[in-house]
Amino acid sequence: MRMSDQPAYEVLALRYATTDLHRPRRENFFPGMDLHDGEMPLDYYVWAVRGEGRCLLVDTGFGEEAAQTRNRILLHHPADLLRQAGIDPETITDVILTHLHYDHAGNLDRFPKARFHLQESEMRFATGRHMCHSCLRAPFECRDVTEAVKIVFDGRMVFHDGDAEIFPGIEVFRMGGHSDGLQVVRVATARGKVLLASDAFHFNENRTRRAPFPIVYHVGEMLEGFIRCEELVGGDADLLIPGHDPDVRLRWPILSADLPDVVRLDLHPLKRTLKK
Ligand SMILES: [Zn+2]
Ligand SMILES: [Zn+2]
Repeated sequence: MRMSDQPAYEVLALRYATTDLHRPRRENFFPGMDLHDGEMPLDYYVWAVRGEGRCLLVDTGFGEEAAQTRNRILLHHPADLLRQAGIDPETITDVILTHLHYDHAGNLDRFPKARFHLQESEMRFATGRHMCHSCLRAPFECRDVTEAVKIVFDGRMVFHDGDAEIFPGIEVFRMGGHSDGLQVVRVATARGKVLLASDAFHFNENRTRRAPFPIVYHVGEMLEGFIRCEELVGGDADLLIPGHDPDVRLRWPILSADLPDVVRLDLHPLKRTLKK
């Protein structure tokens, strides 16, 4: 039972894309931190938060063009998948961008009326001197960053500098690490406060083994971020939602039988997390 004055949102993870099933495990860990052979495919999600009279989106995914150039498998356009889940993209008032990488911040023009929430340090990172280096700019698309700048000039960007409460029960926390301004999102639900970790850790295994994903701006901040994410959920690993782990889709209940790519994170997982 929840106190009636506590907000409780429905939280959906929507898997819109995936990689080749044969992606090698070593591509998901810092060099030298995984010596096993084997395959470890990666899924791409956006997240929706609804309830308390509002509907928010966390990240906007990529579209057909990025899927082709980066050789990813687009299962659904994120906007179409939202519609299938009963959410009209036009009705989304607020979009939280966890960071500006291509798989999180494409399709921005599909939300022409929404306000966007971004860490100030992420915009500085994505438009500053570090983008002179190809290895740091590789996960960004100039097109997406340019769209984000247009949103600033359109008066629809809300910058956060560190931690902030966006609405009652919806908070952001700057983690950095993976990208300079990476933020995670904590949402109050009937089962507790769920943490959408985005790329603070791609897979649970990155966090549990303290073995960072190899796309990283500041390794120390990423490692500290694992600990901070755990603290933000009081150590309950079932409240931690990794950004790209196929396990998310398999562990949480589906929204409806005809939509197996959309799961309810505000409900308890179907089995307990084994590794804390
Ligand atoms: Zn990323
Ligand atoms: Zn990502």
